[in-house]
Amino acid sequence: MPNADQESWLKVRNRLRAEVGDDIYSSWFARMDLEAIEDGAVRLSVPTRFLKSWIQSHYAERVLACWQAEEAKVGRIELIVRSAVLRSAVAKPKAEAETAERARYANGNSGAGRPMMAGDAQVHEALGGSPLDPRLTFDTFVVGRSNTLAHAAAKQVAAARRGDPVMFNPLYIHAGVGLGKTHLLQAITWTGNGAGERKMLYLTAEKFMYGFVSSLRTQTTLAFKDALRGIGVLLIDDLQFLQGKSTHAEFCHTLNALIDAGRQVVIASDRPPSDLESLDDRVRSRLAGGLVVEMAPLGEELRLEILKARVLAARGHHPSFDVPEPVLSYIAKTITHNGRDLEGALNRLLAHNKLTGHPVTLEMAEREVRDLIRPQEPKRVKIEDIQRVVARQYNVSRSDLLSSRRTANVVRPRQVAMYLAKTLTLRSLPEIGRRFGGRDHTTVLHAVRKIEGLVGNDMALAEEIEILKRQLQE
Ligand code: ADP
Ligand code: MG
Repeated sequence: MPNADQESWLKVRNRLRAEVGDDIYSSWFARMDLEAIEDGAVRLSVPTRFLKSWIQSHYAERVLACWQAEEAKVGRIELIVRSAVLRSAVAKPKAEAETAERARYANGNSGAGRPMMAGDAQVHEALGGSPLDPRLTFDTFVVGRSNTLAHAAAKQVAAARRGDPVMFNPLYIHAGVGLGKTHLLQAITWTGNGAGERKMLYLTAEKFMYGFVSSLRTQTTLAFKDALRGIGVLLIDDLQFLQGKSTHAEFCHTLNALIDAGRQVVIASDRPPSDLESLDDRVRSRLAGGLVVEMAPLGEELRLEILKARVLAARGHHPSFDVPEPVLSYIAKTITHNGRDLEGALNRLLAHNKLTGHPVTLEMAEREVRDLIRPQEPKRVKIEDIQRVVARQYNVSRSDLLSSRRTANVVRPRQVAMYLAKTLTLRSLPEIGRRFGGRDHTTVLHAVRKIEGLVGNDMALAEEIEILKRQLQE
């Protein structure tokens, strides 16, 4: 492609970013690439169908306008999905599975001893899903900056009908504790179970380990496949708790079987796929190959919205319960990040109000929720951020840090970055080694010891590291 085109693309991207803001830009456009400019048409590619349809319906005109501002000759925009070739290869077994299924329905349900019955019953009666909380629906989920993309993707999964093409598989949502992962997964499950269109199976990783896997193990391969075929959408919550080699093997098998059959898989976890240390690389890359979205901590505005929604809901049962605006603002301001603590705070106010009959006042709220106010929770520091910040500080590139180069100007920054990864994250030495260009854990250990030794004597280095830490934790 001509360099000039790439240059224009760079300008268009900057323009777009300035117009929509960093958050929206990185949610929707960060992975958009320029493929070609031909006859006044700009062809752009994105990695998933979902992104394509979202950008098409929400931002097509804006993207075009940005192009036209740089290149008057551009007349239209064409969006394509990058992995289209791969995807159609995956779609084939799905079509076959559908046909087989239709054939079975067409043959009537009366055939005695159908192996499928055993599988179905196994899944839906013996196993059941994990219990669902009736309050965790899309209606009660409040959308804000930190969760727009995750919410949109979840909605999309929930709205898909049997036989629709699967847009991204798996959908992988990750976020810290109390930020709404379980809420979204259960919301999807409710819509499916309500409509009765596709069977939704919601399982915690624990349930998957002890119930699902063991019962599948007793089935023949055929029944296993049939059981899976009965599931339209499999949702697994808290994947980070999945443990044990054989469970991982089963998980991998299930994941592959479902995805290859065109079934939707949705996963929630407290970390991105790359940080699931105990899963093997193939599973990790399969997980990362769908749509991976992170939900950021709840901002103050969103916390306030959630509180208001909660009060409204509580008033359904307790009409006299009233929380004045200043109290809501106080709670939203002081209880940070976590949806669970917000709920806890309101429950206390409600209990107090019910038990004593006293109205909710600011003073009462301050007293009641005092112990829920924690010092600012430490930010989750990511290894990529460490690499980025350290690279910038020492004026090397991130790929230098990951490379095998051993010149002094990269060795020291690399050691510092590894040291920070060990001290600021919970990642293990082997995991850190892997994330630094596939190094051995002993190399990481050596780096950590080296820097620990140095900061004792080298004031300048100690200070440098302090500054880096502060930058990362802000
Ligand atoms: P996670 O599974 O991520 O730890 P949950 O889904 O259990 O978090 O959420 C914790 C609590 O916060 C729940 O009561 C949930 O309803 C509430 N919550 C979190 N995010 C939202 C949101 N965006 N809108 C409404 N409630 C939310
Ligand atoms: Mg949860």
